[in-house]
Amino acid sequence: MTSLVDIRHATKRYGAIEAVRDVSFALQPGQTVALVGHNGAGKTTLIKLMLGLVRPTEGSIRILGEDPAGRGIEARRRLGYLPESVSFNTALTGREVLAFYARLKSEPVDGIKTLLDRVGLSSAADRRIGTYSKGMRQRLGLAQALIGNPRLLLLDEPTTGLDPGLRMEFYDIVAELRDRGATVVLSSHVLTELEERTERVLIVSRGRLVADGTIDALRRIADLPAKVRVSVVDGAVETLRSLMGGLAAGRTFNGHRFEFDATASQKIELLRRAAGAGDLVEDIDVIPPSLDELYAHFLRKESP
Ligand code: ATP
Repeated sequence: MTSLVDIRHATKRYGAIEAVRDVSFALQPGQTVALVGHNGAGKTTLIKLMLGLVRPTEGSIRILGEDPAGRGIEARRRLGYLPESVSFNTALTGREVLAFYARLKSEPVDGIKTLLDRVGLSSAADRRIGTYSKGMRQRLGLAQALIGNPRLLLLDEPTTGLDPGLRMEFYDIVAELRDRGATVVLSSHVLTELEERTERVLIVSRGRLVADGTIDALRRIADLPAKVRVSVVDGAVETLRSLMGGLAAGRTFNGHRFEFDATASQKIELLRRAAGAGDLVEDIDVIPPSLDELYAHFLRKESP
């Protein structure tokens, strides 16, 4: 089966700078993928390589089996792109901008109404963009990226500047697209926000792909401890602590809660012992390592 994206040993050099170094990965349809990395890690360059805006110095890039920088534009027509900083001609209306991009992509303009509906801009469609809020401009950017029903959407830091409500709405739209079979690549620094919404994470550091997998798989590889928070009835902290033995050497918070770190194998044993304490335990929370912690782990491993 032809992968939607197939990148093999891609390197991109700008003079002495290696923006992307020997990166390989493939993406299949219907995935939401987080592309994370520090400033200057190579995320935008990878996106530009997939778009065919720059060519790899070494290695190959295939989108639906085609070279995106080649002469055939079919693969490029199946791509949608939302750049990091989106700017439109403020004198135009939202509808006019979308009509302009639809023509550029040789797509019919009669799909614009549906797109405006989908991103919640119908009522502002005929207002000039100069009167739009940041969130409205970002939604217009997304609508522009959606023209032609792309099979691959590349969204570069799409939620920068959006308030939490708008971010949620934005991710709802992304989930809907994924459910229709599109593959969505989201680059971002806001890792906590991607955690719940992506099946796969690509971590880049200094041009290299240092981790690639589902969040669960990366958790297993990193083997970082989870946080366990046990709430007990008043005065029972010490009883519980001795029941758990050395496994629960941690901090006591107030009289009825303590929190400590546990590896995957310790966690099961701890839960078993806590369950043995019956009514003394009021609640147990197990908080797995966050994407931020995983990210820091893989970057530490990469640094000499
Ligand atoms: P950010 O999160 O800050 O946007 P990024 O991960 O998207 O960063 P890139 O923009 O891909 O990183 O840049 C990777 C490296 O390549 C950086 O060192 C950058 O300065 C360099 N670079 C990118 N584009 C060019 C260019 N056209 N000419 C020279 N160097 C470039």
